Amino acid sequence: MRYVDEFRDQRLARQLAAAIAAAARPDREYRLMEFCGGHTHAIFRYGVQHLMPSNVRFIHGPGCPVCVLPMARIDQAIALATRHGVTLCTYGDLMRVPASERKSLLKAKAEGADIRMIYSTQDALRIARENPERQVVLFAIGFETTTPPTAVAIKTARAEGLANFSVFCNHVLTPPALRTILATAGPEGVRLDGILGPSHVSTLIGSRPYAFVPSEFGVPVVIAGFEPLDVMQSALMLIEQINAGRCEVENQYLRAVTEDGNPKALALMDEVFRIRDRFEWRGLGELPDSALALSEDYADLDAELRFPVEVPESREARGCECPAILRGVKEPTDCRLFGTVCTPDNPMGSCMVSSEGACAAYWSYGRFRASSSSPAVGA
Ligand code: SF4
Repeated sequence: MRYVDEFRDQRLARQLAAAIAAAARPDREYRLMEFCGGHTHAIFRYGVQHLMPSNVRFIHGPGCPVCVLPMARIDQAIALATRHGVTLCTYGDLMRVPASERKSLLKAKAEGADIRMIYSTQDALRIARENPERQVVLFAIGFETTTPPTAVAIKTARAEGLANFSVFCNHVLTPPALRTILATAGPEGVRLDGILGPSHVSTLIGSRPYAFVPSEFGVPVVIAGFEPLDVMQSALMLIEQINAGRCEVENQYLRAVTEDGNPKALALMDEVFRIRDRFEWRGLGELPDSALALSEDYADLDAELRFPVEVPESREARGCECPAILRGVKEPTDCRLFGTVCTPDNPMGSCMVSSEGACAAYWSYGRFRASSSSPAVGA
């Protein structure tokens, strides 16, 4: 398949592995954070870490929007469905994320709440059209990548006069999260030598918004595609920058990302959303200017204004290390619940639920087991 097979080619993988082994200086470590869960899964699925010299390490970052969504937002969504009796439309991953008191959207649905799993924003619009007597709320979530479909749904609802449709907006922005991770690096946080930058996000916002990483923090960035050879080539580009004492934003994912991103999609975002003053991220705390809400022009479609809910403060499951994993400070195997109490069938934290979560990646591909026989892409 074009744009897939050539980025999983074993012969090229071996060549890249040899180039990385030759480039990596034996007298130092290279600690490279992959921001996205898509990178983490490529690394584990294809055994990319096994193709690296021992001094080149991937550090897993915030992963995905489901992983970083704080428990309180799931509690709020459950309250929307149970206290306000709305029809809540949500994506599959979110259904099983643990909420307070061992609840989840799936359990709330089993107890009678009208919570429906959707595949796209268009499904939520369809449900609203087919059920004019019901208030239908779209649980919108995602990094910048998924904001255009939400914006289109909002504009469609306005154009059609769908008075029973609204949006519970949980879209978050990646640069502020990266800033926080780097600002807290050091003795208390994670030490990073380079960043594998978000790829799908960057198709939308471009590579320019990451210029602050080298200029303010002295850490190089390579915008990296999600296929295994993308990840390997990006690691090589970072190692070469580090060795040469260069520190800049480079773009490996040239087939999809430009410096300025997608102007049409950015204009749509500007029209439909505004930046929230603050938003809580699981593991990172309250970050300024890090999430979106509906703009003033579309405030009548904002579910948080239409159905206000207060929820008590929430607490992570005891022993769950998701917050430290999302900051890159710990690995899934550092969690004593990993693979014992916490598995994909019985997730205790978001990192085990989400298809892009680090714990799910460790567990699904089994590479944490010393005896793992899973082959690497270049094996
Ligand atoms: S293994 Fe489970 S409990 Fe431990 S950090 Fe991961 S999601 Fe949380």
